[in-house]
Amino acid sequence: MFKDSLSSLWIVLISIFLSSPAFSTSSQVSPSQCQSKRVKLQILGSRGPELLDEQASTGYLIWLDNKARVIIDAGAGSLQRFKQSKANFEDVELFLFSHFHVDHSSDFPAYIKGAFFTKRSKPLFVYGPTGTKFVASAEQFVERAIGSQAGMYPYLGNVLDKNSPSAYKIKSANIQWSYSDLTIKIIYNQNGILVKTVSTHHGPFPSQGYRVELAGCSITFSGDMSGRLGAMPELAKNTDIFVAHNAIPEDATGVAALLHMTPTTIGKIAQRANVKNLLLTHLMERSINIKDETLKLIKKTYHGAVSFPNDLDSFNP
Ligand SMILES: [Zn+2]
Repeated sequence: MFKDSLSSLWIVLISIFLSSPAFSTSSQVSPSQCQSKRVKLQILGSRGPELLDEQASTGYLIWLDNKARVIIDAGAGSLQRFKQSKANFEDVELFLFSHFHVDHSSDFPAYIKGAFFTKRSKPLFVYGPTGTKFVASAEQFVERAIGSQAGMYPYLGNVLDKNSPSAYKIKSANIQWSYSDLTIKIIYNQNGILVKTVSTHHGPFPSQGYRVELAGCSITFSGDMSGRLGAMPELAKNTDIFVAHNAIPEDATGVAALLHMTPTTIGKIAQRANVKNLLLTHLMERSINIKDETLKLIKKTYHGAVSFPNDLDSFNP
């Protein structure tokens, strides 16, 4: 009897240890453990906010075992790419927003309206940074988009209201953005998906970088950032795929240089983090026609694989 209770206690203690948010699996994952075929990153939007070409504004989709599981950002046009990817929105469990600029978030209400016509029944988690007077926080963004009181589309508010019937609910949460606290936080650890985040510098706009770990693989997203806060190499350490935003040329000045990374900065981060593959996205008019020059600058420090994907391109880690 006593022996049985003791074994149960051990099982409980081991389970608590394994499920604790403080228990990080990343340091134990060696490259050979990445089950590459189970995981796919698909680009839903490879450009910035400009009306530049046929490519969409920022969006990414992570597949696990042929199911769409995580969406990162929802810029204009990325929902159309989601449809073209043949993903099923019922499978998606979380949205990670790097920040709440238009080119990263404007398609969100359309995803939610579209979801009404699916058989979705499980909750949808939405994460993003805290806000300022210039941008909404994650919770404000969701509320102001579809809240039944103050939303742009109050008729969609039943997915937020506890007391209204709806097939599923949205659960949004703010990640405390900070200039000074650059600790890497685990914000999600469920169903084989672990998400880590750190605050980044995108001028005066709170922005988050994310690292998604699944099936022993990892994919890290810089989001829009200048590199000034310096925690990205740690977040992206030994990551299988690093998605970095290449929005400016080396000689950018003024506001552009305050908001985004130069090619040299991207190269240094990729080298310091020892990333295996570097994808350059969020191209803009000022960066799209100078890819050779950008590559030359990046390759001064980073010697791994680099590519400039288009919408719908996919990558196994
Ligand atoms: Zn952007």
